[in-house]
Amino acid sequence: MTDTKSSKKKHDVQAGLMALRKRLPALENIFDAFGPLLVAQEKADELLEGWSGFILPEVYAPRFEQGVALLDGMECPEVGDLYKDVFKLTAEAVSAGMPAVAGSIETILSAVEKADDFNRLAKAVWDADSHTVESLADAWKVDGQLLAFIGSFSLKPFMVRMEHEAADKISNMQWLKGYCPICGTFPDMSLLKRSGEDNAYLKSHGGQRWMHCSCCGHEWRFKRNMCPWCESEDYDKLRYLQSDESKNERVDICDNCKHYFVTIDTRELVDEPDPRVAPLGLVHLDIRAQEDEFMPITETPWNML
Ligand SMILES: [Zn+2]
Ligand SMILES: [Zn+2]
Repeated sequence: MTDTKSSKKKHDVQAGLMALRKRLPALENIFDAFGPLLVAQEKADELLEGWSGFILPEVYAPRFEQGVALLDGMECPEVGDLYKDVFKLTAEAVSAGMPAVAGSIETILSAVEKADDFNRLAKAVWDADSHTVESLADAWKVDGQLLAFIGSFSLKPFMVRMEHEAADKISNMQWLKGYCPICGTFPDMSLLKRSGEDNAYLKSHGGQRWMHCSCCGHEWRFKRNMCPWCESEDYDKLRYLQSDESKNERVDICDNCKHYFVTIDTRELVDEPDPRVAPLGLVHLDIRAQEDEFMPITETPWNML
């Protein structure tokens, strides 16, 4: 891995945040609160570039094509000391963005230093075992909700690292679901892209829809007129509200299941948006959809309003 590539990536998140600040000064509080977290995640991605403590499952086509994500059922990988490093980076970023919890995070960080079984947290988060997360919080005498939040955000860079190799394994397979084919998480945004080569099933006029995974960052093609949550294709139930700020931004909503997700139409944009950063600039659409009682298909720190 060359320095050039790392510094370019680093530049991207910072530059993306700067551009959003300039364009959307009204969302300043959102960028202050969550910008540091995005920067920390990118630093963690760089930290994990050489990490290889995982063996990906083999793809079994009939299972995968029925909608079972590649990593479903996989054991927690060997995270070594890196999980603690990423946890610290994440905790410091949360503290910087949300001064109200800085004291609780300081307590967590000093408990983490003393814990000799820290990777139990990684395993508990991986297994979605909230009972163990709670008992660790009790044993370490720290805030359980914050521990769970930071603990799960600290696993994301490991997912991002695995995604690079996992994507190759599934590149020739068919996936028709609204959740991620690699890690099974729902997307934090969709991107409409210009149609290039098209495939018969997904074919659509007016561009292709791509989903961006809120966890591992994988992007996959999805049917343009289908709800990713309930899979309704009822034309009367699927609609969108366009942003007042930009004609390229919108929130897609489903009247069948009452869920929504945010979308950027990139077809007329010169630069494609960085999906690691772009959802932060769409919070006004989250607000609008939630005011109308729609629920996000995935929870992000900034859409839990
Ligand atoms: Zn994913
Ligand atoms: Zn739906």
